[in-house]
Amino acid sequence: MNKFLFVDLDDTLFHSLRKCDTRDELRPIAFLKDGSANSYTNGRQRAFLAMVGQGMTLIPTTARDRDGLARVDYPFTHYRIVDFGGIILAPDGQPDPVWLARMRDDMATALPGLRQVLAVIDDYARRAGMPARARLVEDLGLPFYVNVKDPERDMARLDAIEREAVAPWLAGQGGDFCLHRNGNNLAVLPKRLNKARAVEYLQARLRDEHGEIMTFGMGDSRSDARFMAACDYAIIPNGTQLSALTVGAL
Ligand SMILES: [Mg+2]
Repeated sequence: MNKFLFVDLDDTLFHSLRKCDTRDELRPIAFLKDGSANSYTNGRQRAFLAMVGQGMTLIPTTARDRDGLARVDYPFTHYRIVDFGGIILAPDGQPDPVWLARMRDDMATALPGLRQVLAVIDDYARRAGMPARARLVEDLGLPFYVNVKDPERDMARLDAIEREAVAPWLAGQGGDFCLHRNGNNLAVLPKRLNKARAVEYLQARLRDEHGEIMTFGMGDSRSDARFMAACDYAIIPNGTQLSALTVGAL
């Protein structure tokens, strides 16, 4: 039986240097646009990758866009889910046309709301004298989500943006949107854009191609839980937001 691992990348398979234990033997695995390394694996993470790479097919399921995925030094050769599920790349690297058409319609519907929350965040940050600015993240010409980080990694400022600007908007006009927050990363996504939808679509496609399949889901964030729940088995790395909320809390 074919086995597939739908796997988040950042903070699941590797970490940025800031989050690494420098006592580990670290090796670079992901790079910035200027070519400098910004994410690393430790020995256990490399052993994990070697182990799962033998028995199953890895399908990255990531918020990274196509460029960001290309800057990860791992030979993903099968389907790839990028942009929080907004784009599914086929094994030949081309976007799945059926999924792309669906997302084009969904994101056209979402665009006015995305522009609205972007303005709400920027207005709040400016009035509060914060340096953070929101940006609309696009890929293949489709708008997907609004992202904001604090340039000085000041979590209190990002907490305030979440509490004072984003939460009231979500509770009012933003009913079709949701929040993803993990550390210095705050994103507002259309509810139609989520990894679980893309994983479910792709699982149906894989069953058509292979018959019965076995699926694993693996991720570190609260927002990964839904796509992991759509798989036969879930794998949660220890020391993550999701492990603290689930097995760690129990
Ligand atoms: Mg992650």
